[in-house]
Amino acid sequence: MGILKRYDNMDDINPVKHMIEAQKANKYVRIGSDLSVTEMTNSPRIVQLANRYPDKLKKDTIESSLPALLGTSTHDMFERYLRAYDVAHPDTYLLERRMLTVQEAASGRLVRVAGRFDILERRHILWDIKQTSTFKFVKGNVDDFEKQLNIYAYMLQLDGIKVDTLKILAVFPDWNKWERQRQGGSYPPNKMTAYKFELWPFQKRQDYFRDRINLHDSASVVPDDQLPLCTDEDMWAAPTKWAVYKDTNARKASRLFEDKADALAYVNNMQDSATAIIRERPGRRTRCADWCKCAPVCTQYKDFLKQLP
Ligand code: SF4
Repeated sequence: MGILKRYDNMDDINPVKHMIEAQKANKYVRIGSDLSVTEMTNSPRIVQLANRYPDKLKKDTIESSLPALLGTSTHDMFERYLRAYDVAHPDTYLLERRMLTVQEAASGRLVRVAGRFDILERRHILWDIKQTSTFKFVKGNVDDFEKQLNIYAYMLQLDGIKVDTLKILAVFPDWNKWERQRQGGSYPPNKMTAYKFELWPFQKRQDYFRDRINLHDSASVVPDDQLPLCTDEDMWAAPTKWAVYKDTNARKASRLFEDKADALAYVNNMQDSATAIIRERPGRRTRCADWCKCAPVCTQYKDFLKQLP
């Protein structure tokens, strides 16, 4: 009776393993575009390394594939049922429409950009569905969503559709009622929460779109060692910190500093400065370490690893 065995390794679960194998075999093939909207807002270094070394990238595991797959299933669910709703209430929704625009970069090369928006409600409210973490919204780290929505709004306007409202429908697999009660504030109130974002003036959308095209276009013709470097934001970087401890037995740091000189000054002013010690907590680049497929071919990340203590 009861549970006989727990399978801790997802590779041992055939339906999961086979579903991911089949999904990979059914890969999306890019037809007729140089850049997707998702790539446009991404780091040019990541886009170029992924294009240049498809066979040398970090391999997907079941665990790393799951978030995207679950996100796809959420999209499919909305598409399926809103289509049904639209049959009964015509002209309420346009769903998953592909857009394509061709623009001339500063180099004179033509760049084709493709995108697919999720939901257009009554031809003026643009929705993008995001399956994401509560942490992202708690930290307010959502500029990428705002940029993506504004790119879609720009492309729609090129096609003659003027949206006036931008919204994200965020789905939080990690949402927890107790965390909501404990944290309150910017912790999402529900497992599915809608957020309205700023619609930039048309000129700002156009300038941003062209800047990104130029950035990616110029990256596409330089050798690897001249690729633009990823920013701290791109790498989800946490800086090196200097932790001050009362003595070698202290388990918790008394203070943390981002600058070693500040940590030294603090120790010099401590009453028991003779026993105090400073420990370096090396910075971390979470995306490079755990998520970026390009890490095996990225010299920027390799150089960072080399200079770690
Ligand atoms: S490994 Fe890091 S630095 Fe290199 S491309 Fe990826 S995110 Fe950028």
